Amino acid sequence: MAKIAINIATGSLQQAEMIVGIDLGTTNSLVAIIHPETKQPVALREFNTSSLVPSIVHFDEFGNPTVGEQARAFLELDPQNTIFSAKRLMGKSYKDIKENAGFFAYKVIDDDTESLVKVQVGNQFFSPIELSSFILKELKQRAEHILKTPVTKAVITVPAYFNDAQRQATRDAGKLAGLDVMRIVNEPTAASLAYGLGMNQEEEATIAVYDLGGGTFDISILHISNGIFEVLSTNGDTYLGGDDLDRTIMQHWMNEVGITIDELHQHKSLAQGLRLKAEEAKKHLSTHERFSTDWNGEVLSITKTVFEELIQPLIEKTIDCCKRALTDAKLSTDAISTIVMVGGSTRVPAVKNAVSAFFGKPVNDRVNPDEVVALGAAIQADILAGNNKDFLLLDITPLSLGIETMGGLMDVLIPRNSKIPTSVGRQYTTHKDGQGSMRISVFQGERDLVKDNRKLAEFNLTGIPGMPAGLPKVEVQFLIDADGILVVKAKELRSGTEQSIEVKPQFGLTDEEVENMLMDSITHAKDDMQIRALVEARTEAEQILDVTEKFIGKNQSLLTQQEILDTAAAMQALQMALTMDDKNLIQTKIEELNEVSRPFAERAMDAAVSGALKGKTI
Ligand code: ADP
Ligand code: MG
Repeated sequence: MAKIAINIATGSLQQAEMIVGIDLGTTNSLVAIIHPETKQPVALREFNTSSLVPSIVHFDEFGNPTVGEQARAFLELDPQNTIFSAKRLMGKSYKDIKENAGFFAYKVIDDDTESLVKVQVGNQFFSPIELSSFILKELKQRAEHILKTPVTKAVITVPAYFNDAQRQATRDAGKLAGLDVMRIVNEPTAASLAYGLGMNQEEEATIAVYDLGGGTFDISILHISNGIFEVLSTNGDTYLGGDDLDRTIMQHWMNEVGITIDELHQHKSLAQGLRLKAEEAKKHLSTHERFSTDWNGEVLSITKTVFEELIQPLIEKTIDCCKRALTDAKLSTDAISTIVMVGGSTRVPAVKNAVSAFFGKPVNDRVNPDEVVALGAAIQADILAGNNKDFLLLDITPLSLGIETMGGLMDVLIPRNSKIPTSVGRQYTTHKDGQGSMRISVFQGERDLVKDNRKLAEFNLTGIPGMPAGLPKVEVQFLIDADGILVVKAKELRSGTEQSIEVKPQFGLTDEEVENMLMDSITHAKDDMQIRALVEARTEAEQILDVTEKFIGKNQSLLTQQEILDTAAAMQALQMALTMDDKNLIQTKIEELNEVSRPFAERAMDAAVSGALKGKTI
């Protein structure tokens, strides 16, 4: 029997442990729970409203954020201060998103380095983690308001193709929002759970999850056996979704009315009105044959037949992705026993029909496609809470394990609640020129600074051959065996020099101590995050100062006198900023130094390239 407690403050019934499921989407986010009475998953909604919260953050003139419908109203009206699609930036460097930089109507900092992207709003700089945390905080507050009980534990979903850094960023966003992230689950896995797939331990199946959302398309091929989901392949298009369907209707109407995109953009509120009308038309056509409306004194209308013709090329693109996913998994369509439809855009009948025709069987669309991922996350949460006795929990790591990096930061390799046995490897490099050894310090805990975590072991990897900073490649590997023994190995890949150590992480920790360490990490999340951001900004600043100094030393001849003076001034300003504990100031000064050095850095690059070409003979 599940334990039920009464919350004295609110008088409401409370489950011993309420873990919510969260779909943190690119376009929309929502929370679901297992209903304490019906035991069925339900999406949380305030009376008479949608369960979906648009994943949009708007900052007012004082820099205060609002999230959701209200923020969405500012997309066209105040684009610089309205952040949409922050999920696309999670765990990414500017280099990663360069190609699509034009997509973002707000300012993504272009420092053209490998460091993680930041978004500038007024004079504040936000990481994608912070932006996502605003959305999660809003979801948490709404859930608490609806449930009338504190919500502190969550399962959060991510796309199957999210890498280690993107998953860690999602965990950090949860922590910053005051949530203990019990597990990160793949979106297609969650959707399958909502359809009851994988719930029977004996069942074995190969399935396809087709997810067409607001701005992204994902197809995942999964294999399920013994209740374990294995991702066989993923494919998709990160810039294709419902927004593109809206745009085909907008374009169609603009042609009819005879208005160009430039004219439209001069009237932000007109553009906004047209976008909303187009989306309304699209949704209407999912269940009706035609749509018509008034816009700016014109009658706009469209039939389902015309809409389907307009979107045919887009649908074909998604089918091509499905073909590629199958090829990668080395499977034919016959091998797929079940097709699960996910994402609001799969409500379009032409989409359903095309997918069904391609796979040669009917698709599963019984569960609400924009809630299905959150519902599955709630099922996973219920299993973790131990309420579902059909599931035996596999052994898991109670606390995160990682190593110390520059500035005393904790870099997590194995997040808490990972199934064991497991192994993870990650590459690191040196900080100083000619650095011959590297100290590997292993820590356990959830805090951002290693000094607040528990040190498990430490060793020196020696014999790294002399190389400039950043060149050696040291692979650190964490392996936990089925008995919970952790082995840490470090290897310099160019020279092959290697060292390892064995530790027993749980040794000497009581459940209560583990619980305390978790609670501490949540209460300190905000301070920790600020310190981490400051340390990262400092490290970045030091690297840039170092590189700039070396560069100027070598390339004096390429620079004008004025450039040398300007650079020296910008470097000095950055040095000054480093003496203060203000990450925004450091960030601003880094930007200013980048502005000054960009033109001659580019010139030097050209000179180097043409130099190299001259040296070649045919
Ligand atoms: P994401 O996973 O990217 O956050 P969602 O799954 O919430 O996105 O899908 C949002 C998209 O679904 C939007 O483009 C929205 O217009 C579209 N959508 C919602 N309802 C319908 C409908 N009835 N017909 C067609 N498209 C719809
Ligand atoms: Mg989604």
